[in-house]
Amino acid sequence: MSEPIHVLAVSRLSPLWTPQLHAAYAVHDRLHETDPAAFERIAPQIRAIAASGESRVSAELIARLPALELISVMGVGYDGVDVAAAKARGVTVTHTPNVLNDDVADLAIGLALCAARQLPQADRWVRSGDWAAKGPMPLARKLSGGRLGLVGMGRIGQAIATRAQAFGMAIAYTSRSAKAVPYRYLPDAKALAAESDVLVVITPGGAATRKLIDADVLAALGKGRGEGILVNVARGSVVDEAALIDALERGVIAGAGLDVFENEPNVPERLRAIAQVVLAPHIGSATGATRQAMADLAHGNLQAHFAGQPLLTPTPEYQGG
Ligand code: NAP
Repeated sequence: MSEPIHVLAVSRLSPLWTPQLHAAYAVHDRLHETDPAAFERIAPQIRAIAASGESRVSAELIARLPALELISVMGVGYDGVDVAAAKARGVTVTHTPNVLNDDVADLAIGLALCAARQLPQADRWVRSGDWAAKGPMPLARKLSGGRLGLVGMGRIGQAIATRAQAFGMAIAYTSRSAKAVPYRYLPDAKALAAESDVLVVITPGGAATRKLIDADVLAALGKGRGEGILVNVARGSVVDEAALIDALERGVIAGAGLDVFENEPNVPERLRAIAQVVLAPHIGSATGATRQAMADLAHGNLQAHFAGQPLLTPTPEYQGG
């Protein structure tokens, strides 16, 4: 019998991935956190890391795994992985792009609709008896025909734009460089916000985008009239959460739809207390079909690597030679 291949699961993995993972590899589930002495013994034999989109894989952890070859992330975002440290050690990082585009785009449109038309609030209005007691709800905002600004025009940004076209929205976007898409390009998030009714954030997380959406961008979105809705389906780190809370409390912007937060799963009490925000617990890709496709792709990358085949979906840092 051949020697088993040792894999470290760095966080709690999806139950849609773990059966195939355990069937193919010797999996050490969060051993680095739960049993440091046992981890010390097995560390020299660990050849791969299995991670989720929210996992942290630090330079320090990579340094403790001399036989590490591959980090397979089940998620398109891999901002928790120190890719520079991995690259310096010749360790490859893979992720799961594309299979989740539809779900994340659906959620972005859903949050925009919920925030504009106040759907969770409408549900509460009926359930609480306010309808009978107080009469009709205050009027909401129209989404169809409005102006959509996309901060990020990658795979998911384009899927959001396709959906927004069916709502008759005028679409503009920003990113570091203009893309070959039929939408108006604006040079930065502030200029885009000034011309948007709904601003959707869909960039990667990490240092390059930290607090890209700050008080200035939110003020531009509000246009001095308390207008504008912010939707964040990217990463909590991309929005200055304190500035957002302040803008919502002071009525600088009209509302927000948020799937991601700075310190998940902890959402500040002040944010939870604001009536005009719609909150979701990081469910962008959380449907059974999509999570299975992500699990299969994350597993497929491990299998391809250890079979000596080309990787299915290495991250951009490992593409193009
Ligand atoms: P992608 O195809 O790589 O697109 C990313 C876009 O962001 C590109 O248009 C890129 O253009 C732009 N961008 C990157 N850095 C930027 C910067 N500093 N300033 C402005 N724009 C910048 O990625 P994707 O597949 O669409 O996924 C995007 C992100 O969505 C993921 O990385 C992940 O963080 C998030 N996500 C969240 C969920 C959820 O559950 N809520 C699910 C899936 C993904 P340039 O390079 O030209 O700037």
